[in-house]
Amino acid sequence: MTETSNMHIAVIGAGPGGYAAAFLAADLGLKVTLIDPELNPGGVCLYRGCIPSKALLHVANLIGESQHAKNWGVEFGEPKIDVSRLRSWKEDVVKKLTGGLGVLSKQRKVQYMQGRAAFENSNTLRVSKAEGGEENRSFDRIILATGSRPAIIPALKLDTPRVMDSTAALDLAEVPKTLLVIGGGYIGLELGTVYAALGCKVSVVEMLSGLLPGADRDLVLPLHKRMEKSLESILLNTTVASVKEETSGIRVTFDGPEVKERERVFDKVLVSVGRKPNSEIPGLEKTQARVGPRGFIQVNKQLQTDDPVIYAIGDVAGEPMLAHKASHEGRTAVEAIAGHKVAFEPSAIPAVVFTDPEIAWCGLTETKAQKQNREIKVAKFPWAASGRAMTLDRTEGMTKLILDPQSERVLGVGIVGAGAGELIAEGVLAIEMGALAKDVALTIHPHPTLSETLMEAAEVFYGTSTDIYRPNR
Ligand SMILES: Cc1cc2nc3c(=O)[nH]c(=O)nc-3n(C[C@H](O)[C@H](O)[C@H](O)COP(=O)(O)OP(=O)(O)OC[C@H]3O[C@@H](n4cnc5c(N)ncnc54)[C@H](O)[C@@H]3O)c2cc1C
Repeated sequence: MTETSNMHIAVIGAGPGGYAAAFLAADLGLKVTLIDPELNPGGVCLYRGCIPSKALLHVANLIGESQHAKNWGVEFGEPKIDVSRLRSWKEDVVKKLTGGLGVLSKQRKVQYMQGRAAFENSNTLRVSKAEGGEENRSFDRIILATGSRPAIIPALKLDTPRVMDSTAALDLAEVPKTLLVIGGGYIGLELGTVYAALGCKVSVVEMLSGLLPGADRDLVLPLHKRMEKSLESILLNTTVASVKEETSGIRVTFDGPEVKERERVFDKVLVSVGRKPNSEIPGLEKTQARVGPRGFIQVNKQLQTDDPVIYAIGDVAGEPMLAHKASHEGRTAVEAIAGHKVAFEPSAIPAVVFTDPEIAWCGLTETKAQKQNREIKVAKFPWAASGRAMTLDRTEGMTKLILDPQSERVLGVGIVGAGAGELIAEGVLAIEMGALAKDVALTIHPHPTLSETLMEAAEVFYGTSTDIYRPNR
């Protein structure tokens, strides 16, 4: 048995799960090798996910604000969009961040291998190096952090740049005149928001009855209303039966009870129907690690697979497929390897949809509580009563607390409105700390801020909100 301090760990995949794991392992004094095909760490999140999408969404928000400013007596001209400068700004952000991670990796003496890893056996990896050649290396522990990729529906697969996945959409080769987004999940809506702000006529098609399936409907409603104005159309309960390339674009056939126009032609189509875990790691079958029916590598609460020397974290290890969940799992796996008594069992993992307005939630949702037949009390504070929301002209928002009626403990928080993604962190802390509604109500929040809406929602629970009259008891 190797002493933990002498251990050599390999981390396969340098996304937010992999690099967080590798860096902590180095900080704890372990020897670490981090393997990834890119020049620097970053993974999907930095190269083709969270970061480039948020850079473009920032610009989309700016365009939206500038157009809205005429309501406040300030008129800007039509935006002139230089797509190649926008693209290079976004690429610059990615380059700076990934370059920074490269520096952090060197400072920590993490051995970074640019290449792809395959298993020879549970302890030995064969790395095909980006510079050419292969190398076999043995390790005491191996962490799989290989992430995920866009899911493909064979019927929608056309080998043409007119049909894009999220990676191609973020490349921003051009702004088409018309775009169909297939899938009303968060990635499709965020990218649809970007293209719509840049002047493209965007339609979204979703096979279920609402956008963002899984999120509470009252959170989605203000977004749906706003998107009805900013997008060309939102087609619900509708499936795409076929796509065909023609000289003028992609001909799409729709199916469903609400379909009015069965066929339409779009310049481009973005297929955004979910993501698939990258669990087909060559040679994994030579180990005892097991892949579950949905393609996720099976792990316990220490992120250990059925093979005692192999751990798996992040998108490849299960839902929710989010960067912050990947990083926390990465850190937990390393602590477990280092012999600390740890388990990954968070009470709340926040989810944020960076649309306009933003939607964010954590912990228990109303939808989940209903499914579980669990008794809850919901306290909602409408942003129409928030001074800060009024000054921002964004009163469509809402903050709600989901509470245990007996203990008054905060079980979940849901927010829709500008900046909801920043606000939700307080909800996560409240849940993790076992806060009661009283704790949130008695915490002095700065005025005038949107953060006060959390405090006021707690006051709503007691029927004593300063800014609305709604006796509750
Ligand atoms: C458009 C878009 C927007 C997103 N926005 C957000 C957001 O706002 N917030 C959020 O939390 N999440 C967001 N996500 C999801 C987020 O990117 C993922 O949850 C996160 O990147 C998962 O991290 P990970 O470490 O598990 O793997 P990844 O980031 O997927 O990284 C895995 C790495 O492993 C490498 N790899 C795979 N196989 C091998 C191998 N055999 N050998 C070596 N290397 C290998 C891959 O090339 C990749 O670099 C977004 C995703 C997309 C696509």
